Amino acid sequence: MKHSPLIFERYKKQLLLEEIGEEGQEMLKNSSVVIVGCGGLGSIISNCLVRAGIGKVTIVDNDYIELENLHRQMLFDEEDVKRGLPKSVAAAEKLRKINSQVQIEPIVAKVAPENIEEILKDVNLVFDGTDNFEVRFLINDACIKTGIPWIYAGVLATHGVSLTIIPGETPCLRCLIPELPPVVDTPTCETVGVLGMVVTTIASIEATEGIKLLIGKKDRLLRKLISFDIWSGSYQLFEIERSSDCPACGQGRFDYLNPKKVKYS
Ligand SMILES: [Zn+2]
Repeated sequence: MKHSPLIFERYKKQLLLEEIGEEGQEMLKNSSVVIVGCGGLGSIISNCLVRAGIGKVTIVDNDYIELENLHRQMLFDEEDVKRGLPKSVAAAEKLRKINSQVQIEPIVAKVAPENIEEILKDVNLVFDGTDNFEVRFLINDACIKTGIPWIYAGVLATHGVSLTIIPGETPCLRCLIPELPPVVDTPTCETVGVLGMVVTTIASIEATEGIKLLIGKKDRLLRKLISFDIWSGSYQLFEIERSSDCPACGQGRFDYLNPKKVKYS
């Protein structure tokens, strides 16, 4: 394969990897991904993917950078807090400096039933960088309906989980959690906190799973729910079964694409 000298220089160590190589690098260049949420997870996923040479990265987030984000949101700094920029815009600015060969599209918006299918148009893969189940259930329905793979993840305190979802092939989020958990029962990073390093680790797992998918190494995917606690150093892989009763991937019912179903916070 014929990479230009500059491309060769930039990705030298990645091209050397037998897991990726020149063919994989070319596939990454021809890929388009969406990252929903540019907080802790999203800022690290986007950083990893832009450095790795993904062709196009779209970042969707409607939030603004605050001082309390800086302990875990590795793309941002104090100057960004002062400038009061939307996260997706500040992220795009930084990421373009990191790799000008990547097309980066920031979208300042909340994903919602009304816009998600347009946002996911022509993309190869979706990353979960969110912090709430309403949006994850929405991503799941939209991805199962359109056949786009997505990578679910969540972090809380010192613990994180991730699951790679390929529509029609692997269990989906609603095979794992059939209905939206009640907000009142769910602890969040707002109530119990989160360690920055577990966010980095789970985001790196998401980015790695994503790269495997984008370069056609589906046989190397974890295909299990990974659950990791960075404080104790323990991790487990859980086998999840596809369920024929699953409303989304079993019965083809996409409840969360209905704007009346949930009020998106
Ligand atoms: Zn399912």
